[in-house]
Amino acid sequence: IALLRVRRSDSAPFLMTIDERQPHEVRARSYGEIAERAAALAGVLAAAGVSPGERVGCYLSNAPCWVVGALGTWWAGGVVAAVGTLVPGPEAARLFELAGVSTVVAVAGAPELPATFRVVTIDQEGDGVAAPARPAGGPGPLDFRLPDPDELGAIFFTSGTTGAPKGITYTHGDFVTGAKRVAGGYARKATYRPDPAPAHLAPGVVFNPFGHTAGFLRLAFRMWIGRPTLLIPKFTVPAVRAYFARFSADSLQLTPTMIHMLATSGEPIELRGVQYVTSGTAPLSVATRDRFEQRFGVPVLDAYGMTEVGVVSQERLEDVRAGLRRPGSVGRPATGVDIRIRPLDDEERPAGEGEILVRTKDMPAEFVGGAKVPVDAEGWFATGDVGRLEDGLLYVTGRAQEKIIVGGFNVYPAEVEDAARRSPLVTDLVVVGLPDDRLGERPVAGVVWAGAPDEEALLRELRTGLAHYKVPRGTFALDAVPLTPRDKVDRRRARELARAALD
Ligand code: ATP
Ligand code: MG
Repeated sequence: IALLRVRRSDSAPFLMTIDERQPHEVRARSYGEIAERAAALAGVLAAAGVSPGERVGCYLSNAPCWVVGALGTWWAGGVVAAVGTLVPGPEAARLFELAGVSTVVAVAGAPELPATFRVVTIDQEGDGVAAPARPAGGPGPLDFRLPDPDELGAIFFTSGTTGAPKGITYTHGDFVTGAKRVAGGYARKATYRPDPAPAHLAPGVVFNPFGHTAGFLRLAFRMWIGRPTLLIPKFTVPAVRAYFARFSADSLQLTPTMIHMLATSGEPIELRGVQYVTSGTAPLSVATRDRFEQRFGVPVLDAYGMTEVGVVSQERLEDVRAGLRRPGSVGRPATGVDIRIRPLDDEERPAGEGEILVRTKDMPAEFVGGAKVPVDAEGWFATGDVGRLEDGLLYVTGRAQEKIIVGGFNVYPAEVEDAARRSPLVTDLVVVGLPDDRLGERPVAGVVWAGAPDEEALLRELRTGLAHYKVPRGTFALDAVPLTPRDKVDRRRARELARAALD
């Protein structure tokens, strides 16, 4: 399998990082250097008794150690149970228990796990800390058995936005399918034919955690096309500025929050070499996207997906270039993905809107732990998201769960938020529903004001473009919109803040 054929002799650049002490230096590691460390780790795991098919916890963040941990686990015959280090120790322990993990690969200084786990410690580079590193002349990567495409490769957890995170199994074949689906959005493979001077290849910058499918499948895609990936430990505007002051990149994978931060930042930034930016994991507001594209002159491609499926739909570079993109759309179905809309039994809904159903050949039947994945007899998976299909393009309205029912009318927060973000009065906002005696629920907005708060003026502006029942009935000021660790709007927290401020 392509992803595992990382050779010790391959000197092409693979992973790059910025030296935090010297932000103007980029360090590149070749496929060979990573392979050597992974082989050492695989040896340590095998010696520690990790057996074929065993689930090994990878409690790691976006640094070379993540890739060493995953490759080392696969070469030792194990299955990666991926949990990022932003997840606190007790929750990580629960997820690892759910996945049946007893051995965990972690970096010294990661949140502590209960003593019932056997922890193999490596450093940020993936070198062994507790165990001897790199046995000289030890087995090379290709001396380890390569798995079959239908063997289990990893367990990824959903973001836990609507409840406890659910574990999803991926086979080794799913990695390849997933990477190819990502690739469908940007170019035919020929465009990415390896450069004659690979040392000068511009990397792609990936900010989404590899411990989730959005980041991992992007990394797998970059490995598949043979292009290096730059890891910046933490997204900040100054870090992005410092990097691009000296270096270039071919693409950026960002969350909508990061796109918003870059679009509105006062710092002088030039995204050198960047051909496209991809957005995903949460709704991208049209206003934010317009602002970003006007400022940087780089197209932002939205992709919609979920841990259960991988990429479901995406905007394609060729469509942008041909002027076929439509504002607010998340693009066309990805290769091998069927999309259908199931009407909701509401009275008031725009024609064609309903729950988004998705069908692929590789959908798991069960979540880790045994609960059934909501797939019907014909193989359609119920996403819990509401949207519509128009001219072959998908539009996501929001999660069914987020719907606010105002006197019998449906209000999806994203539409109101998108309208309000166009106002110069507003930097950012979140709309939630509060219980209301008369209406059942009423929409209210937590607003990060651009200047002095002016509720009257904002609501007046909104009334000109939105149906009256969609206009918030009350606002409260926020310093920042509350986000989950995965950069998704934390609506549970926003509702608590709204209650405290307005009820
Ligand atoms: P959980 O399932 O644990 O509640 P989650 O659904 O947030 O958490 P993920 O699998 O990481 O976990 O996220 C998938 C969801 O994210 C989608 O169902 C959708 O609601 C949202 N999403 C992803 N990409 C987009 C996008 N481009 N536009 C709008 N929403 C998106
Ligand atoms: Mg979900």
